[in-house]
Amino acid sequence: MGWRQDAARPGGYHAGMGEAGPEFVCDAMLGGLARWLRAAGYDAEFTYGIDDQRLIRRAVQTAATLLSSDGKLFERNLIRDKTVKALFVPRELNKLQQLSFVLREFKLPVRPEPRCMACGGELAEVQKQSIQGDAPPKAYAAYEQFWRCSRCGKLLWRGTHWNRITARLKEIPGRG
Ligand SMILES: [Zn+2]
Repeated sequence: MGWRQDAARPGGYHAGMGEAGPEFVCDAMLGGLARWLRAAGYDAEFTYGIDDQRLIRRAVQTAATLLSSDGKLFERNLIRDKTVKALFVPRELNKLQQLSFVLREFKLPVRPEPRCMACGGELAEVQKQSIQGDAPPKAYAAYEQFWRCSRCGKLLWRGTHWNRITARLKEIPGRG
């Protein structure tokens, strides 16, 4: 089973625009949630230290859903009048609980094709031979399948880290 290179984006907001924008824009406190959303197959943008104004501007530009744990943000006009679709994420939840909360709120499944946890880019399977010298020798020897992020170029394989994430995602209730 591989991940589709040209995966359709159910629920995507940018049909016909080529490279689609993110589906979620996370506030400066939700970097962990952004990584878990990507593991669950959603393109989530996170910018370290982003302020409220830039955050809202990004949500307007991309038509992404804004996720924030900052109650004050929800008093902004663009959010109150629903120009920007936004969800308040309770701060006391851990990252996995936050992921579960967001998916439940929008009735979204954990998707079978994870995205790059570092940047949210799509993963494309690559020929093993083509990445020799690029992958750590131990990983190259131990695994047959490798994927590369189409956005940041990061190389991935189903190692320990990968399996741990997959196992945690299975804890999400009501996954589709
Ligand atoms: Zn990436």
